[in-house]
Amino acid sequence: MTKNEFMMNEYGISKELADFIDECEREAEPHFKKAEEIAALNQMRVMKAFNRNRVSETHFAETTGYGYDDLGRDTLDTIYAELFGAEDALVRHSFISGTHTLSTMLFGVLRPNDTLLAVTGKPYDTLEEVIGFSGEAGNGSLADFGVKYEQIDLAAGGMPDLDKIAERLKKSFVKVCLIQRSKGYAVRPSYTAEQVGEVARFIKSVSPNTIVLVDNCYGEFVSECEPTAVGADLCAGSLIKNAGGGLALTGGYIAGRRDLVELCAYRLTSVGIGKECGASLGFNRSMYQGLFMAPHTVLQAVKAAILCGVVYKKLGFSVMPEPSDVRGDIIQAVTFGTAKGVIAFCKGIQNGAPVDSFVSPEPWDMPGYSDQVIMAAGAFVQGASIEFSADGPIKEPYTAYMQGGLTYESARLGIAMSVKVLKESGVI
Ligand SMILES: *Cc1c(COP(=O)(O)O)cnc(C)c1O
Repeated sequence: MTKNEFMMNEYGISKELADFIDECEREAEPHFKKAEEIAALNQMRVMKAFNRNRVSETHFAETTGYGYDDLGRDTLDTIYAELFGAEDALVRHSFISGTHTLSTMLFGVLRPNDTLLAVTGKPYDTLEEVIGFSGEAGNGSLADFGVKYEQIDLAAGGMPDLDKIAERLKKSFVKVCLIQRSKGYAVRPSYTAEQVGEVARFIKSVSPNTIVLVDNCYGEFVSECEPTAVGADLCAGSLIKNAGGGLALTGGYIAGRRDLVELCAYRLTSVGIGKECGASLGFNRSMYQGLFMAPHTVLQAVKAAILCGVVYKKLGFSVMPEPSDVRGDIIQAVTFGTAKGVIAFCKGIQNGAPVDSFVSPEPWDMPGYSDQVIMAAGAFVQGASIEFSADGPIKEPYTAYMQGGLTYESARLGIAMSVKVLKESGVI
C-alpha cells in the first residue's frame, strides 16, 4: 500500500487532496533544503558543546533537597551559555512556563522607577498582566512595583521603528528595551537572530547602558545563532517549545550577561542563593536529551510550517511567512478572514494529532488572554507547542497560527486533515 492509499483508506482523504499535498511538498523542497543546512549546523554546535563539556552519565543523576553541587544542572547552564554565545545561563525545570521565565527576567532586571520600553509593539498577551496594563493595584505586577512602561509600535511592514526608538532613547534614560522575536498573535514577520541582534546593537549605539532583553520563544535553533551571540543582553524562552526538543517535560531558560543572569537567579530562588541551589530531581536527562534533539525537532517543525504555507497559499489564503521567506521562528500564520475558517482549521489540526485526535476544540476564555482563543493540541506534554498544534484568537483578521510537529511526517498528515475539515465545513 502506498502512503496516499493509506491516507485515502484510513483517513478519508480524497485522491485529489492526497495528490495536492504531494504537489505542494515538491514545491516546498527547495525551502526545506535551507532549513536542513541550518539544522545540520546547529546539531553540530550542540554536539560540540556536549563534547567540550564531557557530558556523561554522571550529569543525569538526580539531586534532591537543596540541590547543592548538582553537576548536571551546572553543566547544562554552561552548555546553554556556549550555544547562546552568552556568559552564563539559568536552565531550570522550576520555570513553570515561558511567561514565568519572561516574568522572572523582567523582575530580575527592573527596579522601581525604571522604564521598560517594548520596541516591537505590544508584548505577548500573557505579559500584559505581568507588566500591569490593567492598572490593578496591589497585585504585584511591574506597574505595581513602580516600573514605568512604554511601547514603540512597529513600522509599516512589521519591522521595529528605529527612528522612533532612537528618538525615545535620547529623551531620557531607558533601563530596559524588550524585543519579542516571534510574531505571537500578531500578523507581522518574526525576526531572525541576526535581525534581533541588529536592533539590539542599534539600541546600544544610541544608549549604551540600556539593557536589551529578548523574548526568544519559538525562535531557538531556527537561525544559525541566537540573539545573545549578536548583541542582546539576555534571551529567555520555554523548554516546552523549541529548546526542549519535545522531550523536556517543563521548564525554561535565561541566557546572557553573567551579572544579569545572576539577578534573574536571585529572583527565581532567593537573593544570595541564586543559581547555587535547586534540586534537579530527575529532570536533567530529559533536558539534555531534549537539547540534543532540539535542532532536529525544530527542523521537523520548520518543514511542517513551510508545507502548511505552500498548501494554504495555493488554496488562496494569505500566509505569513511566505514559503520562500527566511524564517525567524516555527510559526506559520494563515489568515482565513472568518471565525469559521479559524475554527475549522484548528479542528482539522486536532484530528491530525497523535494524542486526543478524537476531541473537537472550541473557542474559550483562556487565562491571560483578552479575546476568546481556540487551541488545537494533542500533545504528549500538556501545552507543548513544539508538538503539532494550532491556535488563534477569535478576532479580526481571523488568523490561525500553526506550529510544531515532533515529526514532519505526522504534521504532514495533520495539514492534510486540516484541508479536509475546511472542505467539509464549506470554507473552501
Ligand atoms: C509562548 C510564548 C510566550 C509565553 O509562553 P507560555 O509558555 O505560553 O507561558 C511568550 N512569548 C511568546 C512570543 C510566545 O510564543
